[in-house]
Amino acid sequence: MKTEVRAVVIGGGVVGCSILYHLAKIGWSDVVLLDKNQLTSGSTWHAAGGMHTFNGDANVSKLQKYTIDLYRELEELTGQSCGIHHNGGLMLAANEGEMDYLRLVASRARYLSMETEIIPVAEAKRRNVLIEEKYFTGALWRSDGGHVDPWGTTHAYAAAARKLGAEVYQYTKVTGLSQRPDGSWDVSTDKGSIHAEHVVNAGGLWAREVGRMVGIELPVLAMEHHYIVTDAIPELEGLEREIINTTDFSGEIYVRQEGKGALLGTYEHNCTPWSVDHTPDDFHTQLLPDNFDRIAPELEVGFEHFPAVGRAGIKKSINGPFTFAPDGNPLVGPVKGLPNFWVACAVMAGFSQGGGIGLTLSRWMAEGDPGADIMAMDVARFGIFATPRYTKAKVIENYRRRFRLAFPNEELPDARPLRRTPIYGRLEKAGAVFGANFGLEHALWFAPEGVELTENPTYRRSNAFPHVKAECLAVREAVGIYETSNYGKYEIEGKGARAWLDKLLACKLPKPGRMAIAPMLNKEGRIVGDLSVACLDRDRYLLIGSGFAEAFHMRWFWLQNPPADVHVRSAASTLTGFSVAGPNARTLMQRLVREDLSPDAFKLFAVKETAVGLSPVIFSRAGFTGELGYEMWTTPDFQATLYDEIFEAGRDLGLKHFGGRALSSLRLEKAYGSFNKDFRPDYTPAETGLDLFVDFKKEGFTGRDAVLAEREKGPKKRFAVLEVDTDTEVIGYEPILKRGEVVGHVTSGGYGHYVSKSLAIGYVKAEHYEDGGEFAIDIFGEDRPAILRKAPLHDPNGGRLRG
Ligand SMILES: Cc1cc2nc3c(=O)[nH]c(=O)nc-3n(C[C@H](O)[C@H](O)[C@H](O)COP(=O)(O)OP(=O)(O)OC[C@H]3O[C@@H](n4cnc5c(N)ncnc54)[C@H](O)[C@@H]3O)c2cc1C
Repeated sequence: MKTEVRAVVIGGGVVGCSILYHLAKIGWSDVVLLDKNQLTSGSTWHAAGGMHTFNGDANVSKLQKYTIDLYRELEELTGQSCGIHHNGGLMLAANEGEMDYLRLVASRARYLSMETEIIPVAEAKRRNVLIEEKYFTGALWRSDGGHVDPWGTTHAYAAAARKLGAEVYQYTKVTGLSQRPDGSWDVSTDKGSIHAEHVVNAGGLWAREVGRMVGIELPVLAMEHHYIVTDAIPELEGLEREIINTTDFSGEIYVRQEGKGALLGTYEHNCTPWSVDHTPDDFHTQLLPDNFDRIAPELEVGFEHFPAVGRAGIKKSINGPFTFAPDGNPLVGPVKGLPNFWVACAVMAGFSQGGGIGLTLSRWMAEGDPGADIMAMDVARFGIFATPRYTKAKVIENYRRRFRLAFPNEELPDARPLRRTPIYGRLEKAGAVFGANFGLEHALWFAPEGVELTENPTYRRSNAFPHVKAECLAVREAVGIYETSNYGKYEIEGKGARAWLDKLLACKLPKPGRMAIAPMLNKEGRIVGDLSVACLDRDRYLLIGSGFAEAFHMRWFWLQNPPADVHVRSAASTLTGFSVAGPNARTLMQRLVREDLSPDAFKLFAVKETAVGLSPVIFSRAGFTGELGYEMWTTPDFQATLYDEIFEAGRDLGLKHFGGRALSSLRLEKAYGSFNKDFRPDYTPAETGLDLFVDFKKEGFTGRDAVLAEREKGPKKRFAVLEVDTDTEVIGYEPILKRGEVVGHVTSGGYGHYVSKSLAIGYVKAEHYEDGGEFAIDIFGEDRPAILRKAPLHDPNGGRLRG
């Protein structure tokens, strides 16, 4: 056994073996994988091996496609069969909502260059003879996907890694991990110790236990999962090819051919978490007892929807555990505070995602960057709010909904309310319909008296539409108040703060009493944050960003090594805030502050620590609505008082609440991008238009070389707002077309209530970026006309904002 290596991968399931292969492929041949039993002996060996490309996040879809395409390459490289059945996939819809979903998937596939087709049920039946047509209204066929042999695939990864110099030690258990002062790791095993520069936790069913070795509790939990395999089915005899792997949303069933029979599995409602606190150490190549009662309701439906399966005898049944994160996507990446410790766990679809995870993590480890935005599977999308109890509630909720439609306006109820600000009860009284962001409750919109406090989940316009409109009009015509506590807030202090921030942020740092828009870039010059920075004093700064990215940004700050004289603190729970915006905002706020708020005295981006009414507040002239507005931050103990006083002062000025839905509409009208939708590490300052805020003259900021190089060449694509002729808004990742050719994609959109237009934000190839340019956007299968607008639709000259 080697005792000095570049990296140790803990875990020989499909995920660990893929990581080993990808590390070796990227040139790290000095890597070893340790498994306490034999390869595949965790959750991998009993998987159904299904693979597909669909994911709510386009980048994860791309990685799934990469995974599926990799299998042939692995076979050629190693001679080890992966047992590929490249059958393709069918998704069955039983109602209009499900048809909408299929149309959305088809539209996104067009952007991703993946082959799909909406087909009638009769055609679906031709491709899978087991389907009972009467239960369905339509289907989507996709060319990719199918299933593989879990054992063969995992061993093919391992064999490919070995060919490149990596080594695999089976029956070698990691018993402890300790870090040396230089950041490298001593990996203790039952066969001796290995010194490694890097450690990867790909411990699958035991990922929690491996995490505990370094003092972290990962939000991951295993669920029991059942599938059955039938005896031979006469209907499958004599077919030229296997039936297409099929997903039935209404039945919550998946079906595929297995030999001469069928394999049918379900994500049952009456589901069971497994080993909630601790995974038994010896649970290798084991199954759990059958529990047909648990899946009986779903089986009953499955046997109606696929009657020939019901008529066949059950040859084999598998009940085994596999792991999930609270939202069903994997947990991948570095962990704040633990240099050179990486996780790749909670992978519930190892055969769709394993290859992409290996590719991403190996790049991250070797090059310091995952290569694309992978926020959807970044371990940093969860914070301390993801306690074991939260994880359990959310994993169960997610498992039950695995085959349910996920609507873009839907807020899932379990483990809520969790984080609440002091005015939660006041907002509740005012009719707030809440959503949760990073565990924190925030108002999405306000239901007027007599209106039900719920929003119908839909891909189209919801019942909230007229109420959100009223909120938008209040902001544009009078004044509105929005609670901003769900923004990300960071306090940076100390003698070295200014110098460190100067390197961290690409903008010119503001002087004391001023704020600035602050793009934050990685070395490749891509956007890792669109923050704003307020200089409270030469040595004290407040950064504001997206709330859900709090752990992501705190990890980023840590990775940039703040020196000893710089203190970085998250103010997620220690600052609460409000935005007050609209033409009457100045009159309102002037009633509460002593400072002169006239346009020349307190200009746009002014910031001051002062009192608003009775409360001490960091008070600024800023906002995200495009109106004259103020943002203010105070500690939670003052928040209710501040809120009451603002309301009292605004009574005669038409003050109304507005929520997240209205804010989103208002920012679209001003063409403001939103982080993780429009601004992500996939895009650059020149592409996003954030280059306007980059100080190109400044030396030494992260990403400078890359942005200068890009400035020479010009961006390949451009951030654009399009007016769309439609009565159904875009959702995201729809293709933007020019004469039928895909020339861009949508990143977000919605209805601009004040300008009375449906709007989409996205990126188009630079050569097509022209004002008035005519495009089409595929919305639910219809190519809807869209016109590019270079200037914001509302207040294009910014007169209201600055006035
Ligand atoms: C019934 C069922 C059906 C499924 N069907 C599908 C499907 O159709 N398609 C699909 O993509 N996925 C499917 N899955 C999920 C799939 O099995 C998982 O995504 C996959 O196995 C995850 O692999 P992994 O490498 O993360 O974890 P695991 O396979 O659990 O591997 C972890 C490994 O780490 C090792 N290990 C842990 N701790 C230590 C330690 N301290 N020292 C040394 N070694 C250690 C273990 O021995 C184990 O071998 C299914 C799962 C089940 C249960």
